[in-house]
Amino acid sequence: MTQKLVIYNTLSREKEVFTPLHANHVGMYVCGPTVYGDPHLGHARPAITFDILFRYLQHIGYKVRYVRNITDVGHLENDADHGEDKIGKKARLEELEPMEVVQFYTNSYHKAMDALNVLRPSIEPSASGHVMEQIEMTQEILDKGFAYESNGSVYFDVEKYNKSHNYGILSRRDIDELIETSRELDGQDEKRRGVDFALWKKAAPEHIMRWKSPWSDGFPGWHIECSVMSTRYLGEEFDIHGGGLDLLFPHHECEIAQNTVATGKQSVKYWMHNNMITVNGTKMGKSMGNFINLEEFFDGTHRLLDKAYAPMTIRFFILQSHYRSMVDFSTDALHSAEVAMRRLLDASNNVANIPVSESSTVEVKGLRQLCYDALNDDLNTPILLSHLFEATRIINSAIAGTEKLSKEDIDELADLFETFLHNLLGIEDNSALKDTSYQAFEKAVNMLLEMRQEAKQNKDWATSDKIRNDLTEAGFTIKDTATGFEWRLS
Ligand code: ZN
Repeated sequence: MTQKLVIYNTLSREKEVFTPLHANHVGMYVCGPTVYGDPHLGHARPAITFDILFRYLQHIGYKVRYVRNITDVGHLENDADHGEDKIGKKARLEELEPMEVVQFYTNSYHKAMDALNVLRPSIEPSASGHVMEQIEMTQEILDKGFAYESNGSVYFDVEKYNKSHNYGILSRRDIDELIETSRELDGQDEKRRGVDFALWKKAAPEHIMRWKSPWSDGFPGWHIECSVMSTRYLGEEFDIHGGGLDLLFPHHECEIAQNTVATGKQSVKYWMHNNMITVNGTKMGKSMGNFINLEEFFDGTHRLLDKAYAPMTIRFFILQSHYRSMVDFSTDALHSAEVAMRRLLDASNNVANIPVSESSTVEVKGLRQLCYDALNDDLNTPILLSHLFEATRIINSAIAGTEKLSKEDIDELADLFETFLHNLLGIEDNSALKDTSYQAFEKAVNMLLEMRQEAKQNKDWATSDKIRNDLTEAGFTIKDTATGFEWRLS
């Protein structure tokens, strides 16, 4: 590897040089979506964060097996152990098969992620397809004495585990205090302590999603699925486990405890967590009315939005912050992101128009390693973008004639944008639509609208109205703006 990647490991709370367990092969697991509702902003950030890591690891020469699961069972309405299964509930309310609900929202998730230019993982296993293995792992934990059966359900014994191991090693919670305060549980509860978590739950009669097990007809707890699917596809020890910071405790802490008991190993070398997103300064939540679905961003239908925002704008906006920082969404911030991204894309498109000079009057060569240094430093995408803005400044100066560039440097700038903006950050111009026929079509529409501008300036209202009316009739929506015009196909 010519590039030395350093990543922040949540386990050690330090930046560490990334060294995979097996030569140039990397195993990477990321907690995927629970598929019972429309994909929203909260889904976009982990998907994009680990997409950058997936792209970069491959770019610097690793062979990556990226596993991202689909949670389609065992995620309950209230917390890990109580309430109705979220998918079962949706199925009951909409009179569908649970698997219809799962398929419908898995499709929506894929559609939204494709629009955001998030690459599909290497393997996308679902929890419901691995119930047998979850039963097996639960049995192993029972056999080793770190779980107990209670009324057909099986719970992990956190207090016992914590005597010989460290429950809280990842989240650094004071577990003694947690155990102490959770001693108060009334005797009616199946669990011995509040901190204990379910490995298997006996299903209530109305619960639709159920499987046979040695303990009851029921369903697996939420945490066990990730222990099973990660080790099944990546081995008992693997390199990277990622997810949102909201999963750090208890979900990831529970995974470590389960793996340690079942395999004798902690399993994960590097834990990585992306930070959360707020909307206008407040946490996102259904009850807050600020829960914006991705589709609502793309078509501008949410009441907090002033217009539609392209998926690329959302992606760019997220990448403007380091993944471990909070991101706050607001329409002002989205506007700035849109303008900034346009500047970069225009520069990228304009490299071909730079006049070639004998030699350069500005230094270009150093930029590439600066871009690598930014990504090597725990995927610092905002710093990488600042270097691409420096490249943009050089391109614009060369086009304006205030700087000169050699053929070699122009090629270098073109390649810099191709590698870092397009391939690694995944920012594309109109992505799916950017084929040559679309470009020709776009040019033709712009030409007509420019003719209309000219007609308006000449007070030739007949021509200006005719162009507008004919385009509208053909299915275009045209808007006059301060700087000219905007159009889209309605
Ligand atoms: Zn998980």
